[in-house]
Amino acid sequence: MALIEIRQMEPTFGKEERKAVQEYMLSGAWCTEHVKTRSLGKDIEAYTGAKHCVMMPNGTLTLYAALAVLGIGPGDQVLVPAFTQVATANVVRMVGAHPVFVDVEPGTLCMDLEEADRAAQGPYMRAMMYVPINGRAGNMEEVIRFCAERNLWLIEDAAQALGSFQDGKHLGTFGDLGSISFSTPKIISTGQGGCLLTDSDRLYEELLLFKNFGRTENFQQDEYAFFGINLKFSDLLAVIGIEQMKKLPWRVARKKEMFVRYQERLDSVDSIDFLPTDLRETAPWYMDVLVEGREGLIEALKKEGIQTRSFYPVIPHSAPYAQEYPQRVPVAENASKHGLWLPSSPYLRNEDIDYVCDVITRHYRS
Ligand SMILES: *Cc1c(COP(=O)(O)O)cnc(C)c1O
Repeated sequence: MALIEIRQMEPTFGKEERKAVQEYMLSGAWCTEHVKTRSLGKDIEAYTGAKHCVMMPNGTLTLYAALAVLGIGPGDQVLVPAFTQVATANVVRMVGAHPVFVDVEPGTLCMDLEEADRAAQGPYMRAMMYVPINGRAGNMEEVIRFCAERNLWLIEDAAQALGSFQDGKHLGTFGDLGSISFSTPKIISTGQGGCLLTDSDRLYEELLLFKNFGRTENFQQDEYAFFGINLKFSDLLAVIGIEQMKKLPWRVARKKEMFVRYQERLDSVDSIDFLPTDLRETAPWYMDVLVEGREGLIEALKKEGIQTRSFYPVIPHSAPYAQEYPQRVPVAENASKHGLWLPSSPYLRNEDIDYVCDVITRHYRS
């Protein structure tokens, strides 16, 4: 078997990040959260248009913090899409609440509001986790209205949506709180990292307390005005993030260009489908397709040194939830079964993309 030569994703740090880390380390670094973290937060506010950005250690603990400051806990229910990264559901369990899984729409793979309406009955429903999958979202005005009419908090798990907009407004800024992840494969990264976006001054103040032990400071004398834990970021990672943010506009453009290239070159392959994608506003983080005969294609690509990754499994049917959620979620099931992420590094060369497309085309011709 050939060595993997074209990876599905690869680290995207360069000499700018190396230089920034070195300069920071030479500056008498404390390495904990301080002015560099605040500076990265400001860059993210400027890019997304959010009033406030609160940096945290990753895009899972952001979601946990969101639920915690909204007071969601034991006995409460939260709407969660059946197709998502598992963190979206696990944080609901983490605060002691119940995820209520909802099937997704075939066009966007985001939560289906008609299905959500059926699931949202009852007095214990408190919030919706809306996940813009790969930068695509349903109509966010309708999502906001849905939540407002039912008195639900709206948390957007926009982990995969940095660089994606709807009607000129950045995804992750429609809800009460929006979360973004900076884990290694995301469009920009600090290795580990995440942030919450909000326009609410009150939630912002509470999040600042929550991520710092609930401490109303005064360096000499701690006082705990609020329940909190430690969710501080590190300035060592923030200096990497500041460099990555400078590269974001280029990466957004590159991802769109790559998506077009894949689409054009695979247009004649009937067994490969692309989701409708408005590239004026959507920056597909991963090059995602739905394929017939996925396992055969994965093997054929692997033989040529090309790595791919299958879509997430259906979360309610995964071991942590399957006991409680035997019900069918046909759209999520179909996506999980047929979805494939093709090589997506922004640093792939066009020749590499063309090679991947040639191997796919040949596989389906034979
Ligand atoms: C990546 C991701 C997360 C988790 O973020 P981490 O920073 O890895 O904790 C959560 N939700 C979605 C939709 C993601 O894509």
